[in-house]
Amino acid sequence: MSEEMQRLQTQLDGLNLQLLQLLSERARMVGELYYKKETLGMTEADLVNVQQTLIELVANNPGPLDNETLMHLFKEIIQSFPKVKKEATTRRKLLVSRQSKSEDTIIRVKNIEIGGSSHIMVAGPCSIESKNQLLTVAAALKDAGVTVLRGGAFKPRTSPYDFQGLGEEGVKIMKEVADEVDMVSICEIMTPSQIEKAAPYIDIFQIGARNMQNFDLLKAVGQCNMPVLLKRGLSATMEEFIYAAEYILYHGNDQVMLIERGIRTYEKWTRNTLDISAVPILKQETHLPVLVDVTHSTGRKDILLACAKAALAAGADGIMVEVHPDPQAALSDANQQLNIPEFNTFWKGLLHSGLYH
Ligand code: PEP
Ligand code: MN
Repeated sequence: MSEEMQRLQTQLDGLNLQLLQLLSERARMVGELYYKKETLGMTEADLVNVQQTLIELVANNPGPLDNETLMHLFKEIIQSFPKVKKEATTRRKLLVSRQSKSEDTIIRVKNIEIGGSSHIMVAGPCSIESKNQLLTVAAALKDAGVTVLRGGAFKPRTSPYDFQGLGEEGVKIMKEVADEVDMVSICEIMTPSQIEKAAPYIDIFQIGARNMQNFDLLKAVGQCNMPVLLKRGLSATMEEFIYAAEYILYHGNDQVMLIERGIRTYEKWTRNTLDISAVPILKQETHLPVLVDVTHSTGRKDILLACAKAALAAGADGIMVEVHPDPQAALSDANQQLNIPEFNTFWKGLLHSGLYH
């Protein structure tokens, strides 16, 4: 090959690389545009007017390519759009979704696993009221074989006149009791500033239904290295629930569990309506453990066992239930908490069902 030919060949190679750069940049831009337009509800037809684009290109054809070749080439480029579009859509693949991670997330806390092959039972009082109250219930639960103890210290109460929880004193009681009986503990936090106050004393943060879309809180727990139990909002759709969990993963924390706790409907015979379909949907759509709170979803003790069985049959990884040594005297949710013998009957029923393992 002559020197001249060699030089031209090298220039051609350079041009090919430049063309590749330009085509890649174009593809990225199309993806971006599609993504933006799509979120505004526009269609593909709104985005690319092939005919118009070709007319403009032909009008600006500097040669030596003939118009037919030019149109052929650009049609090919424009028709590569569906592939770019697909990429733009998959870019929005959520971190919580099964598409991002096919295997189940298993959360390990102390000696237990949540989301693995065994179910978990989360039980304890609505609110921590005193060490004696929590210890009484915890000891009974421990005897029964329950591994996770719940109890609220920062309480989201409908009325400002109602008991608001013991706050920091409450989480300290939780630590003493959980250590004494050797159980894993769960406490709700309501603000980012409570993270620091509660973290030294508890194992799992709960974000309650009322705070499912407290985005500052979601971001803040996303930045800490603690497991989080996220409750479904009072009237949150699946999408809103999933996006709330996505906030936590997006900010760096993948130790997230979801819990269905009933949603507001017109129905008055239960406190909320337990949306059992949420369980298989969340299990299919996400890789996160899914629990069901049978107490807050129903608000009535007589159907707890049936609902817990339904939850497990639907694929839930665990159940939450409120238990108080003396429910009538409870400072919150007095009507819906089980006493210890009632819990034991419920628990036995669940174990005998063969659904809990
Ligand atoms: C709770 O579990 O203590 C609680 C307040 O529940 P929710 O946020 O589901 O109403
Ligand atoms: Mn409660």
